Amino acid sequence: MAQDQSTDTIKNSLDDFPAEAFTIMVFCDACGRRCSLDRAKVPKHVTIQDLTKVLRCSSCGSREASIRIIYTGAAGFHHNSAP
Ligand SMILES: [Zn+2]
Repeated sequence: MAQDQSTDTIKNSLDDFPAEAFTIMVFCDACGRRCSLDRAKVPKHVTIQDLTKVLRCSSCGSREASIRIIYTGAAGFHHNSAP
C-alpha cells in the first residue's frame, strides 16, 4: 500500500488531533472502504495506534483497517507551541 504520510510511528491519542483541525480517515484494507472516523464511538483514551485494533469495517466486517490523519486546518492557529 502506498503511503503519502508517515503515520506508522504515531502514538498519540485522539485528543491530540482535535476534530476542528483534523479528519481521521479509516481505510479498510480488505474491501477498500474508507470513511471518516466517528469520534463519538471511540473512547477518548484510545490511541491512534489502538484504533486499528478496535475498529471494524462496517461494510465487510474486516478488522484490517488503516488510519490516516488528515490536517484540514483550524479556524484559528492552534499549533502546540505554547508551553
Ligand atoms: Zn471492509
